[in-house]
Amino acid sequence: MSIVESRESRDLRAAVAALGRRHGPGFDRDTLWSEAGKLGYLGVNLPEEYGGGGGGLAELSIVLEELGAAGCPLLLMVVSPAICGTVIARFGTEEQKRAWLPGLADGSRTMAFGITEPDAGSNSHRITTTARKAADEDGGGWILNGRKVFVSGVDITDATLIVGRTEDARTGSLKPCLFIVPRDAQGFHRSQIDMELQAVEKQFELVLDDVRLPADALVGDEDAGLLQLFAGLNPERVMTAAFALGMGRYALDKAVDYAKTRQVWQQPIGAHQAIAHPLAQAYIEIELARLMMRKAAHLYDAGDDAGAGEAANIAKYAAGEACVHAVDQAVHTLGGNGLTREYGLASLIAASRVARIAPVSREMILNYVSHQSLGLPKSY
Ligand SMILES: Cc1cc2nc3c(=O)[nH]c(=O)nc-3n(C[C@H](O)[C@H](O)[C@H](O)COP(=O)(O)OP(=O)(O)OC[C@H]3O[C@@H](n4cnc5c(N)ncnc54)[C@H](O)[C@@H]3O)c2cc1C
Repeated sequence: MSIVESRESRDLRAAVAALGRRHGPGFDRDTLWSEAGKLGYLGVNLPEEYGGGGGGLAELSIVLEELGAAGCPLLLMVVSPAICGTVIARFGTEEQKRAWLPGLADGSRTMAFGITEPDAGSNSHRITTTARKAADEDGGGWILNGRKVFVSGVDITDATLIVGRTEDARTGSLKPCLFIVPRDAQGFHRSQIDMELQAVEKQFELVLDDVRLPADALVGDEDAGLLQLFAGLNPERVMTAAFALGMGRYALDKAVDYAKTRQVWQQPIGAHQAIAHPLAQAYIEIELARLMMRKAAHLYDAGDDAGAGEAANIAKYAAGEACVHAVDQAVHTLGGNGLTREYGLASLIAASRVARIAPVSREMILNYVSHQSLGLPKSY
């Protein structure tokens, strides 16, 4: 990885930024999604032979960051092309790749991702959504039962990639497995959660009540366990970092513009160091997190899953914190206007917290670094 971004990456950044500016903060999700898909931006990471751009996470994270920086973040990008597209491209059957990847790449098909459960929360090892094999005389395939919570975009996506568990016939222990569940599958119930968050993607509680799926709904190997899951979770962390950095840049830009023009005494408020320094600090935090995000994306694209794991967690932590700080300081910089609808920053206070909580919380990343990087003992 070069410290200096390649010409192609800079061109991509500029083109996506221009698209973002054309849509802006009042964007219509469907229009932007379809335009970004047609331009090849949503599938820039997916293999060329299935309609993608043949690039990697480095490119996809640029797309999400630039759209966010223009005020139109697409949270579904974290899920549909990044997690689901990656998992299917890496572990799906030829039929699954042909069925899903071209649509995920051009945006005409989308997929949500459901792992979080009400009783497991941050501890994904405790998930209990269970898949059992149906008897051949009963039609074969799988039967899923369980509950999920906070799953984004289930109403607008064609299917959800559900993380369930199958029982190991030998040991009886449960192994994580991934299943494609169509939106209208019988027994797949969703109810929207009443969030304070103002976002174009809604969050849902899901109930899987004897959901019957064909044998080919299983993505990847039944026995591969965590390996396949982590192939999707590292992209999720890198893309959440991109989401956070885009939002942080958007808020910072608004605040800097305001600080340059708003005059209360003899000079613009940006001349006061109490206003300027926290904005400079926010800029520094964003730049540092961005460098880490690029490192994580490049390690992942180079096939170094283990190296990418640590870097993706650090990038997600740093970007989440940078985003929360930048939004907080932006609101403060605008004084009363920071809380008006006209300036649209107050709603970002809730939105920026998503980057600290999901898909893995700040504390769970600190736990990961304590244990994995520093070798410290676990408290739980
Ligand atoms: C807007 C939004 C969109 C989401 N979209 C999706 C989605 O599409 N798909 C999906 O599957 N999930 C999604 N999630 C869920 C998200 O990944 C979870 O909210 C997150 O993993 C935290 O789980 P939890 O909410 O159950 O918190 P909990 O696990 O209950 O944790 C609560 C608090 O306790 C802390 N905590 C827990 N355990 C420890 C520990 N061992 N040490 C220190 N602190 C600890 C946490 O850091 C957190 O601050 C979304 C969430 C939000 C808010």
